[in-house]
Amino acid sequence: MEWEAVIGLEIHAQLATKSKIFSGASTAYGAPPNTQACAVDLGLPGVLPVLNREAVRMAVKFGLATNAKINLRSVFARKNYFYPDLPKGYQISQYELPIVYDGWLDIDLEDGRTKRIGITRAHLEEDAGKSLHEDFEDMTGIDLNRAGTPLLEIVSEPDLRSPQEAVAYMKKLHALVRYLGICDGNMQEGSFRCDANVSVRRKGEHRFGTRTEIKNVNSFRFVERALRYEIERQIEVLESGGAVVQETRLYDAARDETRSMRTKEEANDYRYFPDPDLLPLVLDEAFVEEVRRSLPELPDAKRRRFMDEYGLPAYDAGVLTASRELADYYEAVAAACGEPKLAANWVMGEFSAYLNRDGLEVPGAPVPPEALGRLLTRIQDGTISGKIAKEVFEAMWDGEGDPDAIIERRGLKQITDTAAIEAMIREVMAANPKQVEQYRAGKEKLLGFFVGQVMKASKGKANPAEVNRLLKRLLQED
Ligand code: ADP
Ligand code: MG
Repeated sequence: MEWEAVIGLEIHAQLATKSKIFSGASTAYGAPPNTQACAVDLGLPGVLPVLNREAVRMAVKFGLATNAKINLRSVFARKNYFYPDLPKGYQISQYELPIVYDGWLDIDLEDGRTKRIGITRAHLEEDAGKSLHEDFEDMTGIDLNRAGTPLLEIVSEPDLRSPQEAVAYMKKLHALVRYLGICDGNMQEGSFRCDANVSVRRKGEHRFGTRTEIKNVNSFRFVERALRYEIERQIEVLESGGAVVQETRLYDAARDETRSMRTKEEANDYRYFPDPDLLPLVLDEAFVEEVRRSLPELPDAKRRRFMDEYGLPAYDAGVLTASRELADYYEAVAAACGEPKLAANWVMGEFSAYLNRDGLEVPGAPVPPEALGRLLTRIQDGTISGKIAKEVFEAMWDGEGDPDAIIERRGLKQITDTAAIEAMIREVMAANPKQVEQYRAGKEKLLGFFVGQVMKASKGKANPAEVNRLLKRLLQED
């Protein structure tokens, strides 16, 4: 019997505001515990929350970028539960009236098709603090620095059908929030994390099965693995005649398995009610329009433009628009050398490889795009070969300066002088008389051998086209 997975993701994106969603305390990561929690974040009596306008702007930005509707009137609600890192005893969230609803995002499938994934809603809420177990024996430490940090919870429709689709959706969303500048996307620091809901059903069945929710998965790889494990587990339960229990589960990466954490709460367990300390959030059209005008070019549009404007294949355009920084870098290189495809090859090839090797981000790259552009111009005008250019690039990366200066200093200019190349060829022929004889007897594939020898003799500097042309001629002669 064939099974089908049904997956819906709830993604928490920490909004990149300077201060918290309802207080003026800093949101900076990594401060000593409990130094960034003010009276509001601590839930002390008599304090009142004040909504951060920037968080609202970011949520609207997200809604507009995902083709969603913006609620001009949304409501903050109290979600009541007890947990040591939640001092108020409730979390301020949005429940019945979220700020963003009914949007979508297209993901790319492996076979090249796209699939539209519905975004049910995106609402604003505050994060809780953190419980620290590691540094305390028989005790738990509480750090409230994170309490009150603004989150956008993005809830997808159950439209995803495989772990790969779930990851593609998550990656697309990750790239989007970074493009928009509303979230730094740092998954290690928990700025972008995912709860994955999953059920299985028999192929052809229309109703959904009972789902489980895997909490707080913080890497793409773990989301894929956790889902894969959980899908297998549910299928086994059902095939052996059992029933899936609706519950919250935890993914244990070390063991690569999910474990039951608690049975799933129902919404009414939380006793949601509108927060009496906060007025409904009312926006006007002018504000929404102002945010719309501030939207940058979005990844999909940029990718299409890269294909149209630069004639790049879809694959290249996708890789180069994966982040705004890489796309900007590429465009600057292409402008500097006037050869979009060559620029694409180098930015995706050498440049990205060096970034990876050194664990750097685009803004930290030691080679500015204009300099890479000049290097590529030198390939174009025949000053150096593509192979030598790699050597020059390495020197540029190591801080040796301008490509022209490096080419000059290291004497890397391509040899195009016919007489000089001819002399090298004659030397190579004199040193390999047997091969010359064989070539003349009809073993033409030895040409490659001769090209290699001459290139070696010239330390890679001979113009390869010229070498080929002259070799063919000289090898024919007696
Ligand atoms: P809750 O209120 O319990 O969080 P929601 O209705 O908000 O539940 O759904 C949470 C997430 O679970 C959404 O992303 C939704 O798409 C997904 N989901 C709902 N039902 C199923 C199901 N049967 N199988 C898989 N995912 C589901
Ligand atoms: Mg939910």
